[in-house]
Amino acid sequence: MTADHYDIVIIGGGPVGMALALALHDTGISSLLLEARGLPEKVEDPRPLALSHGSHLILHRLGIWNTLTQKTPITTIHISNRNSFGQTILTPRDAGVSTLGFVVNYHDLFRSMHQKLDESKADYIAGATVTRLDTRENSGIVYFDYQGREEKVTAKLLVLADGGQLAKQVPYITYQTHDYQQWAVVANVKAEKKQTGIAYERFTNSGPVALLPNQEDFSLVWTVTPETAKEIIAMNDEAFLMRLHQHFGDRLGKFIGAGKRSAFPLALKYATPVTAQRIALIGNAAQTLHPVAGQGFNLGLRDAYELAGEIVNTKTTAGEIGTPAMLSRYRQRRQIDSSAGRIFTDSLVKIFSNENKILKQTCGLGLSILDCTPPLKRFISRRMIFGARG
Ligand SMILES: Cc1cc2nc3c(=O)[nH]c(=O)nc-3n(C[C@H](O)[C@H](O)[C@H](O)COP(=O)(O)OP(=O)(O)OC[C@H]3O[C@@H](n4cnc5c(N)ncnc54)[C@H](O)[C@@H]3O)c2cc1C
Repeated sequence: MTADHYDIVIIGGGPVGMALALALHDTGISSLLLEARGLPEKVEDPRPLALSHGSHLILHRLGIWNTLTQKTPITTIHISNRNSFGQTILTPRDAGVSTLGFVVNYHDLFRSMHQKLDESKADYIAGATVTRLDTRENSGIVYFDYQGREEKVTAKLLVLADGGQLAKQVPYITYQTHDYQQWAVVANVKAEKKQTGIAYERFTNSGPVALLPNQEDFSLVWTVTPETAKEIIAMNDEAFLMRLHQHFGDRLGKFIGAGKRSAFPLALKYATPVTAQRIALIGNAAQTLHPVAGQGFNLGLRDAYELAGEIVNTKTTAGEIGTPAMLSRYRQRRQIDSSAGRIFTDSLVKIFSNENKILKQTCGLGLSILDCTPPLKRFISRRMIFGARG
């Protein structure tokens, strides 16, 4: 650590916190990033991230895009409803863009961003766990454990990008939560048919199952009940691949290979408001969404990018960083995008994960109508790609 006071202290060096640190670099604004985990080589998070074309553009501007070695283009999104008619196919042409997005691996993105921060000599402390926050009218104070000692740093603005634990200590910020009673089982799988750039999103009674193109093969995100997740994790590969084939159907032939399986509990969680005295929330700390339609990180990246824009504007216009006026502008900038992303993913899960035959047929009809209504397709695909600005 080079100083004990900064303009900004970012708490949580996941991909969203690191994106903010990179966006603030070279702007004349001093920032420190505190991350609880150790060195990035040790971060092995198995989840795939489907990045929208909009996120690709942001990562490009942050100097990250060309450093990512594994990025698989998504050329088509195929949405279908198991045990019912109706499907929709989205292509770049529907959205008026060159590509719908890309699939990357969380840990690759994490490492590339960390390397960029290292190269840019940003102030970053790995292995620093924030334990306490305190704020005054003019500054915020962060207490953290580092190498067995308690350290302290102050800033004009504290940004919580920690996934959502620390904001529980902050007066006036409350979380609304909904436990989906679903877990996502994640694994890399090989099918008889090679991937051709198509991302499959299939809705089933137990929840959506996604197969995303990832290099030669697929990344699976399979939503199931908590009990089924435990069962699937405990199965041998052969039984697992057979179960997946029964569940997904024959579109890709049989599944013939699987990597390590992991499971994540799924809940909707969002903070109101997303700011408090000298504090702003971004990424999963502001809203944690169901992974259906791959919106969470894309939304969090826009939080980081727009907050950076607001901080830089404030500084350029000789305003003070972290004041109620600045935080109110940030809240307003993010309100529509954040609530639209939340309502969109939550509705998809609730409407499509049901066993009611009439509702299921209505969903199938909805997919068929969407498939032959280009303006609606354009609206939905641009919303998924660019957020509310789409
Ligand atoms: C199965 C699955 C699939 C997904 N697929 C997609 C997808 O395809 N597309 C998409 O856009 N999104 C997807 N998401 C969502 C995406 O993973 C998250 O939105 C994204 O990881 C949020 O990033 P973040 O940096 O806000 O939080 P996190 O990734 O949770 O990072 C938070 C960081 O804060 C650190 N931290 C926590 N507490 C402290 C503390 N006290 N002190 C210091 N540091 C702390 C943690 O160590 C961590 O590094 C998926 C999620 C899941 C579960």
